[in-house]
Amino acid sequence: MRIDIATLFPELCEAYLSESIVGRARAKGIFEVNCHNIRDYTLDKRRRVDDTPYSEQKGMLMQAEPIYRCFKAVTEGLKPHVIYVSPQGKPFDQEKAKELSEFDSIFLLCGHYEGVDNRVIEEIVDEEISIGDFVLTGGELPALCIVDAVVRMIDGVLSSPDNYKDESHYSGLLEYPQYTRPEVWHDKRVPEILLSGHHANIDKWRHEQSLIATYEKRPDLIDFEKLSDTDSKFLHDYINTKCEI
Ligand code: SAM
Repeated sequence: MRIDIATLFPELCEAYLSESIVGRARAKGIFEVNCHNIRDYTLDKRRRVDDTPYSEQKGMLMQAEPIYRCFKAVTEGLKPHVIYVSPQGKPFDQEKAKELSEFDSIFLLCGHYEGVDNRVIEEIVDEEISIGDFVLTGGELPALCIVDAVVRMIDGVLSSPDNYKDESHYSGLLEYPQYTRPEVWHDKRVPEILLSGHHANIDKWRHEQSLIATYEKRPDLIDFEKLSDTDSKFLHDYINTKCEI
């Protein structure tokens, strides 16, 4: 997979993308990500890429032409899926991350200031994606969130290919609680079952704990109609026991 990020702050994106799990996978060539400075594509002598919005005196807007020239130059010979990160986009989630991980090429456009001239969105963008209902100063953090969530689903990025499948949101549930050494910390013991070595029982316990965590922390994610009979019974029993207490 190849990802191109068009931004006014390529160094900021590079810094994140060169570190840790993502940085190591990138260095190994498991995926390719390039950060492009939109300013390199302006025709303005002073390298300006923004101007005031029509009929408004407040704020600045990124101009269409430098973005378009950047897009044309870096995607020559490619057919990328083009995303504009925007607070007006569809909310990003795990399902979208999975969907995006199947593209060969993605181009991410990061806005800044008041955003970008709408005409370039109409001209090149396939979809707008938001990372939440709040407004940030620029699209770099949203683009990095998307890249991180997408590339960790590519084979070879995580130590075990299936690691992400146990994690929160992949199956619609949150992950079960996890523990590491020491066995006792601040008088709190690691649940006995995890020390038993009985893998089938541990898997069953983890699944039940996932149901409880989801019910307690994000009840909006639980659709009782879609739960298996066993899960539905387990959760109803759990809720009834809680009510009795
Ligand atoms: N004027 C725009 C509006 O009200 O919709 C907001 C512009 S925002 C200050 C500047 C840039 O940050 C946007 O162009 C976008 O690329 C990025 N951005 C801000 N919040 C975002 C969010 N929640 N999700 C994705 N991108 C966001």
